[in-house]
Amino acid sequence: MSTAAESEFAARLEGALQTARRYESGGLQAQARAALPLLTLRARAAASLLRGVLAPPGSEPPPESLHDAFVQELLRFFKSDFFIWVNNPPCCGCGDATSALGVRSPATEEERAGEAGRVEVFTCTAGCGAAHTCFPRFNHPGTLLQTRRGRCGEWANCFTLCCRAAGLRARYVLDWSDHVWTEIWSPGKRRWVHADSCEAAWDTPLLYEQGWGKKLSYVVAFSAECGAVDVSPRYSLNWREALTRRTAVSEPWLATALAHHAAAAHRALPAPRRAAAVARAGLEAAQLAAARNGGAVPAAAELPGRQSGAREWRAARGELGSATGGTAEQPGGAAASRPRPAGPQHTQQRATEALARALAKALSETRKP
Ligand SMILES: [Zn+2]
Repeated sequence: MSTAAESEFAARLEGALQTARRYESGGLQAQARAALPLLTLRARAAASLLRGVLAPPGSEPPPESLHDAFVQELLRFFKSDFFIWVNNPPCCGCGDATSALGVRSPATEEERAGEAGRVEVFTCTAGCGAAHTCFPRFNHPGTLLQTRRGRCGEWANCFTLCCRAAGLRARYVLDWSDHVWTEIWSPGKRRWVHADSCEAAWDTPLLYEQGWGKKLSYVVAFSAECGAVDVSPRYSLNWREALTRRTAVSEPWLATALAHHAAAAHRALPAPRRAAAVARAGLEAAQLAAARNGGAVPAAAELPGRQSGAREWRAARGELGSATGGTAEQPGGAAASRPRPAGPQHTQQRATEALARALAKALSETRKP
């Protein structure tokens, strides 16, 4: 017999898993590819790798691989040229500012087709006399490729689909303290890497706890290939404290539920992919076990408060953070920098090798008859 809390938790896991499974649709991926300038982004990634290799010693370390450079270009493109953040939508009559009136259930065919969970209703502050402006909170990632607007839910949903469409191994990450983002497997780093499309943030997993001041509890990553994985330790410096907030269900119940989802996901894979997925899961389990023991120091990029959304909205959510410009000193005094497996010189060498491989590949392709 499961308790009401367990049933609720299980339904949340299943719902997010369904969202993630949908990204495997060939039709949806084709729609996303048609909307993305993938060749341009690949060229930008190669250029960024080249700039990194040519940069003088002491510069920012370059991306470690063409893969990681591409993800960073996709993040930049998505935030600056593709998706729009919406606090209050502009008035549908005059385009002026609006104020919130309330929320209603989806009613129109379009709202239902786009799987709007709810529809926010706004009124014109200029009093132009136009009808109320409606903002349906769409959940269908195909609809989001068209509307290209929303808050973190819409951003992460559409961005994760775009990652899968671009051939990246990506997961949809749900944070029980009300945020959502993406994780991407980096073949070079041999680990899942945090990617937040709203902030164009890459590999800054402590951003939420240390920067925004979030009190994290459960953070779970979902994909058709992995099932559901409890990745909370990756996002918290103080695992013991985070554990005290995990009161919704018992830890053994959660571990069993997640093991069930992972096993089912692995079983559904063809044999060669299954072996690789199981190997990645084993590696990640060891990495998460190490993260539970803490010891990491946040990098400077993980210190600022939230950047996406109106200031009042961020303040109401308590996500402005304590650091103002990302310059806060860490306990211990020295300039904050998180220990990374690869030092700057090593990274430079990796980037040089990756660039050489990319150039050789491009050359061999141009020589083909
Ligand atoms: Zn108006």
